[in-house]
Amino acid sequence: MNDLSGANASDKPPRVSCSIDLEGKGKRHGHLTVPHSRNDSAWGSVRVPISVIANGDGPSVLLTAGNHGDEYEGQIALTKLARELEPDDINGRVIIMPALNTPAVQAGTRVSPIDGVNMNRAFPGNRDGSVTPMIAHFISSRVLPGIDAALDIHSGGKTLNFVPFAAIHRLPDPDHMERCKQAMLAFGAPVSLILLELDSEGMLDTVVEDMGKVFVSTELGGGGTSTTETIEIADTGVRNFLKHFGVLDGKPVTREERGLPPTRFMDMPDGSCYVAADEDGLFEIVADLGTMVKKGDVIARIHRVGRPDIPASVYRAPRDGMIIQRHFHGLIKVGDCLAAIGIDV
Ligand code: CA
Repeated sequence: MNDLSGANASDKPPRVSCSIDLEGKGKRHGHLTVPHSRNDSAWGSVRVPISVIANGDGPSVLLTAGNHGDEYEGQIALTKLARELEPDDINGRVIIMPALNTPAVQAGTRVSPIDGVNMNRAFPGNRDGSVTPMIAHFISSRVLPGIDAALDIHSGGKTLNFVPFAAIHRLPDPDHMERCKQAMLAFGAPVSLILLELDSEGMLDTVVEDMGKVFVSTELGGGGTSTTETIEIADTGVRNFLKHFGVLDGKPVTREERGLPPTRFMDMPDGSCYVAADEDGLFEIVADLGTMVKKGDVIARIHRVGRPDIPASVYRAPRDGMIIQRHFHGLIKVGDCLAAIGIDV
């Protein structure tokens, strides 16, 4: 007879299983199996790809993409990296998950079409939750405890566009923050940013940071596609990240060595860096991505559809800085994040 009194669900093993051994040396491609019984497949499951390449006794690094399904640079770069890396290249262990929220990746959507859950608001996950929190629970309980550092590659998705940046958060322990900062700088994005989250609860970032481990994320572009520029940033960045930890041989390839301007170290000190839309309408960008603006400069207008008889609403820069993010679509809704501003450190 089952006695569940006092049993804590988080102490029980995940209901998600993994088809490969994550511990031993060598190279293996496999998948997580997430039970998903449904009308069209009574004993069905969702498979989440995972690869491990291990050799020697260096650090363990987790590389993830597809946390949001409509962000592509990381999915592309990590699919290639998992194909290319061989154990002889490695000192340590690399765990690669190029399609973290696989159902969202397959659908080309931000959140999972199965349960409507945003993977990056589902951490640390739930053993007995729906598919997305079950994936998050496996990662939190079975993958994260064994790693030293994690890189989660994001882009703007279908609704945002960014000046490509790597990012860390302001952390209470200065030594911890410095370790994250050095890994971010090694990645080598055009901008390296101390990112202020609008809502950090439930993020993979927060769980890894709370474990005291190095965490770096990125925003490499957006609009639901990728460019040669942003793919090069991801391809070089993932290898630079591994080189920084000595998992791959050699020094990170600097931006200067790639014929590019040095990374621009930027900050978002407070919530005044974000501008939200106060109405629905046609979105007219006035200050493009990368523009340096002064407080009070017009950065965008919103026109009411079919109302040339009333003036447009004017949106102004709330502070001096660079436009590092913009709303992507031609239409905007009240409450949408219209733009964000970063400031030089
Ligand atoms: Ca994202």
